[in-house]
Amino acid sequence: MLHTPSLLVRSRAARAALAFAAAGLALPAFAAETGVLAATEMRHIEKTFPGRMAGTPQEDQTAKYIADRWLAMGYRPQLVRFFTSYTFTSAKHPDRDPDPTMLVSTNVIAERRGTSGKQIIVGAHFDSRTPTSDSDLKKRIGGPALQGLDDNASGVGVILELAEIFRKVAPKHTIKFIAFGAEEIGLHGAFEVVNRMTPKERANTLWMVNIDSIVTGDRLYFHAGPKTYAKDAKAGHARDRALAIAAQLGVNASTNPGLSPDFPRGTGCCSDQAAFDGAGIPVVNLEATNWEIGDKDGYQQTAVSEAFPNGISWHLVDIDKRAHLEAALPAGRVDERARDAVRILTALVAELAGAKP
Ligand SMILES: [Zn+2]
Repeated sequence: MLHTPSLLVRSRAARAALAFAAAGLALPAFAAETGVLAATEMRHIEKTFPGRMAGTPQEDQTAKYIADRWLAMGYRPQLVRFFTSYTFTSAKHPDRDPDPTMLVSTNVIAERRGTSGKQIIVGAHFDSRTPTSDSDLKKRIGGPALQGLDDNASGVGVILELAEIFRKVAPKHTIKFIAFGAEEIGLHGAFEVVNRMTPKERANTLWMVNIDSIVTGDRLYFHAGPKTYAKDAKAGHARDRALAIAAQLGVNASTNPGLSPDFPRGTGCCSDQAAFDGAGIPVVNLEATNWEIGDKDGYQQTAVSEAFPNGISWHLVDIDKRAHLEAALPAGRVDERARDAVRILTALVAELAGAKP
């Protein structure tokens, strides 16, 4: 029987972890309550801000909530507004060119300034899915009732707790936390950040770490960006370190095994990190899904069952919500993923930024 690529990567990660331990390098000391703040914020955002679609008052209120949390931690958060648009397609009028709907979305940014002139970005999107066709509406995809616990209250909870953990550190490289708006209509918040960067800022952005949807999927995955990794294998460093740290912590994490030719092994897809990867900035993204089932493209998150008729929760009003997920998934899933993600990413961000939390 052949070893699958994911097994090879896992064993390589395990070997790296052993080398790391043998070198006598210790992970940060984690408090007993690590992950509790992240899990609390995930549930709060899911419950308080349903339908936080790009350009809506609900998205704006979520942005202000995140800014308030960062303000309370001692940061000076910025709300950066930007114009964008999306197009709704109606099958009832196939002959009519759909008009783009103009809207204003927001990125929320908070940073711990370093001394090197370089930075790492840690991000997660806070908007929820906007329906873009009348077929979406019919299938109850996106819209004002979508609570989005998995996608992506879960990622926002993690960056809120990371900001709390790093709020008093003096890092070598600036740690910039960004909650992105308008991800669901085309990574617009992430492109807004990338497009505003000068060539010097791009060159000085060492890593972009993205977190999207860590609850529903069977397993945690860390990936490099397909474009930067194809050019230079060093762009896989943060992924490999994340996997080694996970192994050292006893957390089952993997990377895309590359079973589909469209998605090369070790690389991910489809969230805000792609905007940075496309601009030549190395990335690592954390998600939970299952790259070994369905079309092996990472889109099917878990086995098909009564609770998950398509094996996904993504964008589904009746499924991506706490009431459904906490009943359907193994007990304690939300808390466990919050804890695992915060512990791994605390060690990773500390290492990448040269910071001691
Ligand atoms: Zn998402």
